[in-house]
Amino acid sequence: LIKPHSRPGLYIVNISAEMAPVAKVGGLGDVVTGLSRSLQRKGHLVEIILPKYDCMDYTRIKSLKELDLELHSFFDGQIHKNKVWSGIVEGLPVYFIEPLHPAKFFWRGQFYSEPDDFKRFTYFCRAALEFLLQSGKRPDVIHSHDWHTAVVAPLYWDIYVPLGLDSARLAFTCHNFEYQGAEPAVALASCGLSVRELLRPDRMQDNSFPNKINLLKGGIVFSNVVTTVSPTYAQEVLRPEGGKGLQGTLAQHSRKFYGVLNGIDDESWNPATDSLLNHQYSADDLSGKEANKQMLRERLGLVTQGDDARRPLVGCITRLVPQKGVHLIRHSIYRTLERGGQFILLGSSPIPHIQHEFEGIARQFENHPQIRLVLKYDEALSHSIYAASDIFVIPSIFEPCGLTQMIAMRYGSIPVVRETGGLADSVFDVDNESIPIEKRNGFSFQSLDEGGLNWALDRAMSYYAQNPDWWEKLVRKAMKIDFSWDVSADQYVDFYNQIVTNVHATRT
Ligand code: ADP
Repeated sequence: LIKPHSRPGLYIVNISAEMAPVAKVGGLGDVVTGLSRSLQRKGHLVEIILPKYDCMDYTRIKSLKELDLELHSFFDGQIHKNKVWSGIVEGLPVYFIEPLHPAKFFWRGQFYSEPDDFKRFTYFCRAALEFLLQSGKRPDVIHSHDWHTAVVAPLYWDIYVPLGLDSARLAFTCHNFEYQGAEPAVALASCGLSVRELLRPDRMQDNSFPNKINLLKGGIVFSNVVTTVSPTYAQEVLRPEGGKGLQGTLAQHSRKFYGVLNGIDDESWNPATDSLLNHQYSADDLSGKEANKQMLRERLGLVTQGDDARRPLVGCITRLVPQKGVHLIRHSIYRTLERGGQFILLGSSPIPHIQHEFEGIARQFENHPQIRLVLKYDEALSHSIYAASDIFVIPSIFEPCGLTQMIAMRYGSIPVVRETGGLADSVFDVDNESIPIEKRNGFSFQSLDEGGLNWALDRAMSYYAQNPDWWEKLVRKAMKIDFSWDVSADQYVDFYNQIVTNVHATRT
């Protein structure tokens, strides 16, 4: 299938529903941008294909222009027109697909949580592959992400290889096994795939509901390499609690399944150059961190005078969904208050009853001198909170990788986490004597009840209050940890090289 070519690096096309900062809901967006930038710096050609959402941050797209190309793609038995736009995001070439479909798939004012998400993203995947075919692109690797673009894999082999788009091998990364894209099987026919062929236990049939088709499973079965976002999560998903029904499929495909810890984009997340901060700072000079803390507290109306000046500021930035340990997030607000700290929560929830509950707590603390809840998505405020906070809580029930603990540490905010998934791979308790002392960088706990959180948060707050010099050393150490994409991107290059031909692998 693979044709030799003369480029020194690989040509990788990411097909994704998110890309930071233009279309970001959570970590998926950060990963697509951070990994791609790192690969680009290593000499590979990386392009990204995204839906053209109405709600993107268009101010962050450079040179956006409509391509002179009529893209016709198939859906629901008909051919539909699409516009394709190109632009540069964070130095990366991006193509945006705009369907001219009467359902206005990406003109909804939000990225997800539409009743026809399955249709929206299967339409997008078909159009994205059609674009690659029509524009004569010959990538070495097509990398798709999460259930939204998992259907790229069966579409590629069943429809596009026979049509001549045959240069690529397929990588698939699952960022969260909770979201699988399972629908009554007939829904798959819309994008042109054969339900009869694919509704089989060894293909795309949902493992729990035999009448359903499972897109995530299709991504696993039909891709050449499958990754998830941390080594610990890669183990956890082989068990029923983690695999959410796909553990058997993963076990069958274990020889091509790996866990690679995400990195963070250390240029976007750098307190020494972050233009969203009023005061830049580094591990060698923390005075700017203190100034940011003061400013943010004033801005949000928390008291900063007298005895209050040295209260530890606890931060939390999160999607408010059950996975994130909503009951423990709520509890940590009250516990922080009880123990004499200040707390800032930045978060929002797609789940109405959770959003409602937190709106109630926000009202309760509306003019409170120590607690503030900001219930929205706000990129700029998130940077200020990472910079201002001393302690950062992440009490997740499960966490595939988690980026906020890494960003927090880079900004000198010490994480208090539940020991699960990628949190267990990146946060090591300061009091855990089985861990080499140089690796210890935060506080962790295991149990799902409030006692575990209390134990870890109380220790953090006591160290902060009683041992300021020790704390400052811990902050400097955390800020110096290398969480960049550099090492993890090399692992992806190894996988890419393994799946393209040996001829090519020996050339790179
Ligand atoms: P997930 O992908 O499950 O949401 P991650 O920890 O992998 O969790 O990534 C979360 C990313 O989203 C981080 O970059 C975090 O700063 C950001 N984020 C989450 N909630 C908000 C919010 N309300 N406002 C701004 N950024 C947010």
